[in-house]
Amino acid sequence: MPEHRVDTCIVCGKVYTQEHYAERYCSNECRYNAKLKRNRRYSVMPMPQKRACEWCKEEFLAKHARHRFCVKCSLKNSMLNYRRHQAYQHRRQYGFGIIDDDEV
Ligand SMILES: [Zn+2]
Ligand SMILES: [Zn+2]
Repeated sequence: MPEHRVDTCIVCGKVYTQEHYAERYCSNECRYNAKLKRNRRYSVMPMPQKRACEWCKEEFLAKHARHRFCVKCSLKNSMLNYRRHQAYQHRRQYGFGIIDDDEV
């Protein structure tokens, strides 16, 4: 009788029966996820997931676990951060802030 070892999946932590020697994942999905994780620093979802944007609450397809905003809002956010960064640099250099006509 072939001996089945019980092991813990290194991806999801589930206990599973090892059917092949050197198997480390409980399912193909976990194997796939582990492969993706090895390739990227952030976790990528196997399938894009529908999420509500944390900013405008509109639904969008998140491709990474860290995706929290829709395309429009993440663009807006990075623009905002860029402006803030610019204003900070300007203040450091000249001692006063940029006149921001958008905020008048
Ligand atoms: Zn697993
Ligand atoms: Zn949004």
